[in-house]
Amino acid sequence: MESRILVVDDEKEIRGFLSRALTRMGGFQVELAESAEGALQKIEKEPFDLVLTDLKMPKMDGLQLISEIAKSKPETLTMMMTGHGTIDSALEAMKRGASDYLMKPLNLDELIVRIRKVLDEKQRFVRLRDFADRLEKANQELRRIDGMKSEFVSVASHELRTPLAAIKNAVQLVLKGTAGKINENQEKFLSMAERNINRLTNILNDLLNLSRIESGKIELKFENIELKGIIELMASSLRPHADGKSIKIDVEINEQLPGVYGDSEKIEQILTNLIGNAIKFTPEGGRILMTAQPLTHDGKGGHGDRVAVSVKDTGIGIPPEHLDAIFEKFHQVEGSLQRSVSGTGLGLAITKGLVEAQQGKIWVESEVGKGSTFTFTLPISEGERRDPHFRFILDKEFQRAQENDAPLALFLIQVSDERGEVGEAVLGQLEEKIKNCLCRKSDILLRREKEKILAALCEASLEGAQIIRQRIEEGIQKRPFEGEEADVVIKVGTATYPEEVASKAELFRLAQERLGG
Ligand code: ADP
Repeated sequence: MESRILVVDDEKEIRGFLSRALTRMGGFQVELAESAEGALQKIEKEPFDLVLTDLKMPKMDGLQLISEIAKSKPETLTMMMTGHGTIDSALEAMKRGASDYLMKPLNLDELIVRIRKVLDEKQRFVRLRDFADRLEKANQELRRIDGMKSEFVSVASHELRTPLAAIKNAVQLVLKGTAGKINENQEKFLSMAERNINRLTNILNDLLNLSRIESGKIELKFENIELKGIIELMASSLRPHADGKSIKIDVEINEQLPGVYGDSEKIEQILTNLIGNAIKFTPEGGRILMTAQPLTHDGKGGHGDRVAVSVKDTGIGIPPEHLDAIFEKFHQVEGSLQRSVSGTGLGLAITKGLVEAQQGKIWVESEVGKGSTFTFTLPISEGERRDPHFRFILDKEFQRAQENDAPLALFLIQVSDERGEVGEAVLGQLEEKIKNCLCRKSDILLRREKEKILAALCEASLEGAQIIRQRIEEGIQKRPFEGEEADVVIKVGTATYPEEVASKAELFRLAQERLGG
């Protein structure tokens, strides 16, 4: 389709000249306006691809017109025509949103080349934007299908586990002789069946675990944990297995290892997978070393906010080209030791999922023939001050906000009286009042018992958060607390993501800082 151009000039001859030239030589569809005001009216009524305007006109000038169009019709391109000696105005026009400018007297060939260039660029931009839109839609669809796949795997594995358990039971009963005496040959075949049932059960458990991780349905019980005990326990429980290959398992733990915040059962699962692999891929007589230390990330020996746990082996190693893919599901290194015995290629994908669900990272360093070191991190717990439940909810809500590009507002509301303590009754009333001030069902209100703080998490922007805060403050003033003699002081601290802060830690810190002020 021909591009539509609106020519704006107060001189009739120039309008006529441009109209003819652009139609005949450029093949454009041209409309004319003799003033900026007239141009704005036309633009309001019908769409144009480009507005070519003169600078000097009696009332509103070309610069003002360009600003107006940039504001009200940003899709419409603008170009400015100026006389000699007015280069400043031309530059000002570009600042206000014009795509290009032309010096008078106009050279027709140049005019048409420049207009075409500007229009082509716009078309390229529109095509790119459409492409990006289509990609985003395709992505959404893929995410939806991926979710369905996880759901299917989850249901199928779950349904398969029950009959498998019954089969296992039956085989074990026959093996034990409960159903009558069996001969040596029968025992051999039934034992083989039992081994394969166990293998199948492991595969189903892995699939179920992975689909739970992928769909975000994994349940974690966060608590403050001392890692030393868990690491030593896992090392001793896997030692008998390692002894079978004369592999030594040693543990070296930094004396000042701070506590971490995580789910102990899941940490045990991570360690079992990593040590299990280390045993599997290390030849007879090798060594496995488990270490744990605070991760220093400033290079000056300062403690970061993580603990790093490593499982190092003297095994076959992993070729460099497999290092990135090793954590993907079903990825196995061709020709790895003991391929015939080995598992599903899901172990490390599950391990990675479990580490990441606890806000950690995992990576591997390896040299073929020398060994591999798998290291994962976990966040350091900040002792009693952090309420695990609160932190878990904050983690989850923050992640949700990030993924959905949604805002998140945190409100910390503290109540105290002259004696510095408030009763349960006041806290309960405050909780009720605040609940009434929140907007959506999905907004969350939590109580941090220790500091008598209520914390609310709402899907609200900075502006929305200010309104909610006002409502909270007004609500409290209007209806004071019943049954309290001393005056109650209530402080509110808020912070919003992403407008005020970029991270979860900053969100909490800023709200707390404002609470103190
Ligand atoms: P699986 O062990 O069931 O095959 P994993 O996901 O645990 O699946 O591991 C994927 C692959 O990574 C393994 O098949 C193996 O090739 C490689 N791998 C994992 N751990 C080690 C290790 N400690 N040393 C050498 N290779 C390893």
